[in-house]
Amino acid sequence: MKGHMILYRGSLKSCNYHCSYCPFSKHRISSHELTRDQEQWKDFVRILEKRAKALGIRALMVTPYGEALIHPWYIEGFAQISRMEEMDAVGAQTNLSFPVKEAVAAFKEKGGVTGKLRIWATFHPEMTEVSQFADGCRQLEEAGISFCAGAVGVPENLELLRKMRKALPEDTYLWINRMDGLGRSYTLEEKKAFEEIDPYFFRELLPVPGDSDKCGGRLLVEGNGRIHTCNISPVMEERWRESLNVIPKPMCSKRRCTCYLAYGGREELISQMLFGPYPLFRIPRRPKAVFLDIEGTLFPEENDREIMTKGKENDFGEKENQVDEGLKKGLEALYKDNTFLFFATTLPLETAIKRCREIWSLFQGGVFAGGAHLLWNGTKEKKECFYFLDGEFISVLRTIKRKYGFRILTYKYSEKIYKITLLRPLGRPWMEWEAKEVFDLLPPSSEKSLRYYVEGRCLQITAAKADKAEGVKLFCQWLGISPGEIFAAGNSGEDAEMMKLIM
Ligand code: SF4
Repeated sequence: MKGHMILYRGSLKSCNYHCSYCPFSKHRISSHELTRDQEQWKDFVRILEKRAKALGIRALMVTPYGEALIHPWYIEGFAQISRMEEMDAVGAQTNLSFPVKEAVAAFKEKGGVTGKLRIWATFHPEMTEVSQFADGCRQLEEAGISFCAGAVGVPENLELLRKMRKALPEDTYLWINRMDGLGRSYTLEEKKAFEEIDPYFFRELLPVPGDSDKCGGRLLVEGNGRIHTCNISPVMEERWRESLNVIPKPMCSKRRCTCYLAYGGREELISQMLFGPYPLFRIPRRPKAVFLDIEGTLFPEENDREIMTKGKENDFGEKENQVDEGLKKGLEALYKDNTFLFFATTLPLETAIKRCREIWSLFQGGVFAGGAHLLWNGTKEKKECFYFLDGEFISVLRTIKRKYGFRILTYKYSEKIYKITLLRPLGRPWMEWEAKEVFDLLPPSSEKSLRYYVEGRCLQITAAKADKAEGVKLFCQWLGISPGEIFAAGNSGEDAEMMKLIM
């Protein structure tokens, strides 16, 4: 994540729409309440300006009870926030009833940076027509504003939502929320129909068990200064104030994260991959290519103790746990959308195939063996490249293998070695200093021609120029895209340079 994203919900509890199911549509707001909302918002923005940098906050979304963007102080505040160097994005959930052109003009007049504005527009079929809503979306698009559109998945509205899909610009994401009051499960046909409109609708139907370890750095701030970790978690003791030094640790014991504003803001690969660094805006990232590490990213990292207690084989290639269901469906959705999917792993190809059998068909190869082997196995294109090792130093390794307690595994193509693993028994990981000691014993020419890295009880050796980031860059050349158009994820030191490509 680039920085923290927080939500703001003022004391406003009123709306210019009057949908039958909504409690806020019934409340007639007094001028006193409006003044209070305005003052609270101004106070919030003032503190944000002072504290955003120290707190690492880089994005804000207003999630009102009612409609905020018909009130000019929100537009003015957005302009002010968008001018802050440390802020990447600011926006709101809205029914899109506000006059888009006038609001954009007012935003610009106050010096607002249009490129940072984000809109989450919700369609309310009881109050507006498809054509009117789609027209508002088109105006946002013409003004160069990033936005998403969406509606609740009411089965009776399916035809209307299909019409909406057709009426919206083709690249506009139309999300569908699960209908809470449905009182039954969706039928298979309904699920399929909604997934045709929203390829990520499956996320609304998967149960998400609460896990506040994934909610570090997020907040929802209320107008009166009370703060919560997310929109459904309890109030904390801390308050939004000028002397707030750090974002408080998550406080939540919810058993389920029941809506997008909750689960969509958790630190999870799927959210970052589908919706970018600030996924709560719900605007898809749409990368042209995705590069994913395997161990610790597609699969949770297992330590030696876990391997021993689960009785799993001690060779990496024999692990057989499954990819998380939501992640797998997310990858399938990207695949259907013609996104290139690649692995970026330190595993050699054969091991990666065994490890990722259930999702292998979605991928077109990748960067293997820590960048020593690149394979693009596309439907139309096939490219392959290796960085080989001059194996002379192996004789030295043979003389020291007993002293350091390792086995030598060599990975070859056409009899030429491209990777060597010095594998130790379970429970005996390599220390960095030991790895250096071994490397220092190799012939002097190795210093320039080889590189090594430690992965638990494996000391990996490849050619010096083989690394994941360079491999990903070469893939970008092959694909004719820039690194800025990709998404990559990994969790080890080996991934650090690759991850910088998407910053
Ligand atoms: S309910 Fe909210 S704070 Fe709690 S785990 Fe879920 S997303 Fe995190």
